[in-house]
Amino acid sequence: LSDRLSGILSGLTRRGSLTEEDVNAALREVRRALLEADVALEVVRSFTDKVRERAVGAEVLKSITPGQQVIKIVNDVLIETLGGEGESINFDAVPPVPVLMVGLQGSGKTTSTAKIAKRLTERHKKKVLMASLDTRRPAAMEQLAILGQQVGVQTLPIVAGQSAVQIARRAVEAARLGGYDVVMLDTAGRVTLDDTLMAEVAEVKAATNPHEVLLVADALTGQDAVNTARAFDARVGLTGIVLTRMDGDSRGGAALSMRAVTGKPIKLVGIGEKVDELDEFHPSRVANRILGMGDIVSLVEKAAQTIDATQAQATAQRMAKGQFDLSDMRAQLQQMEKMGGIGGVMGMLPGMKQAQSQLANAGVGDTMFKRMIAAIDSMTPAERKNPDLLKNSRKKRIAAGSGTSAEQINKLLKMHRGMADAMKMMSKQKGGMLGKLGSM
Ligand code: GDP
Ligand code: MG
Repeated sequence: LSDRLSGILSGLTRRGSLTEEDVNAALREVRRALLEADVALEVVRSFTDKVRERAVGAEVLKSITPGQQVIKIVNDVLIETLGGEGESINFDAVPPVPVLMVGLQGSGKTTSTAKIAKRLTERHKKKVLMASLDTRRPAAMEQLAILGQQVGVQTLPIVAGQSAVQIARRAVEAARLGGYDVVMLDTAGRVTLDDTLMAEVAEVKAATNPHEVLLVADALTGQDAVNTARAFDARVGLTGIVLTRMDGDSRGGAALSMRAVTGKPIKLVGIGEKVDELDEFHPSRVANRILGMGDIVSLVEKAAQTIDATQAQATAQRMAKGQFDLSDMRAQLQQMEKMGGIGGVMGMLPGMKQAQSQLANAGVGDTMFKRMIAAIDSMTPAERKNPDLLKNSRKKRIAAGSGTSAEQINKLLKMHRGMADAMKMMSKQKGGMLGKLGSM
């Protein structure tokens, strides 16, 4: 794949903004990567549409190719779609909080039940009761009891001849009487989706009103992932997903498929057969695994950082010589905006402290940055170099061009004068920080 991709990438070296052809060329490879990672076809389609929308017209950084830029955007959208990091189990309810584990047979429900119970007991100091509602598979209840002993978590005593719903009711009642914080209900699964399974799970849900309904799903699930997740979500209403067997060869496409069709967070990941092989979900790691293009992503990130650093240094050097025109100011404003607004970066640069307090006094919010940048963008290069050119008629033109007012332009110019004066003054202080920057 990388070979195919670099072939395409090397052909694209132009700079500027991404065209539809750039994006489509890169997306063809991305589509193949996603399908190879077993992402369901319909999800691949909607995902690439989303990327196309974001990518066409986006700016290409200097030292990378358009194709690489598209991969970075793909990666960003992938991480966004996979959802937030560290979404954990929610206990925000009156104890005992019921947690219902659902999924197909062999997906890892029983193992995950024990893993989660262990984690809740050890890390969250919860008192947990586990119950197996699997009346079908021989020895399923014993399997949970043995795991319970292994992890030091109580299991509901086995009573022969009860239905899943009866066991579930008994479990909740026992948890209430026993002062448990959490009661985990491990349900039976079928090899394929069927009505009997769904009806039973729905009945258990109605009887216990679980606070969490977790779909346990094998990361190796391919195109079926979408159907499984959709069916369980429609019938019982999922609150989250536990993805098992991420220790295997799976590229993790099921994660994207299930997350995309249900919108439910992937809360935990199984990474082995042992009871402590449970991990939090890390979207960026999974994105990397699905896409298999981590190198390109870090290359683009590095390029972006370098460009920022080069630009910041160039501005700093000009400032040190006492030069500070409106283009420099624009660079500063943009940097500030990127770094989290007024509080973020202004204090970091000499001469900016004063501007910071000026801005704060004027009650300038962060949306103001965008407006000021737009105003500077509406000026001619000559005006940016020499703000004295800006008489009333020019100010009007700029205000109209940038959706601001002449008054706002005046404020901008006043602020610029203040900053430029500060630069000049400081550049005269030999041996000061700015002087040193200037000789760099
Ligand atoms: P259930 O039918 O859904 O209850 O599935 P089980 O919990 O009985 O698990 C089926 C098999 O998958 C068992 O052999 C487990 O040890 C194994 N298993 C479960 N989770 C994982 C995992 O995250 N990684 C690996 N490698 N095996 C797992
Ligand atoms: Mg089981």
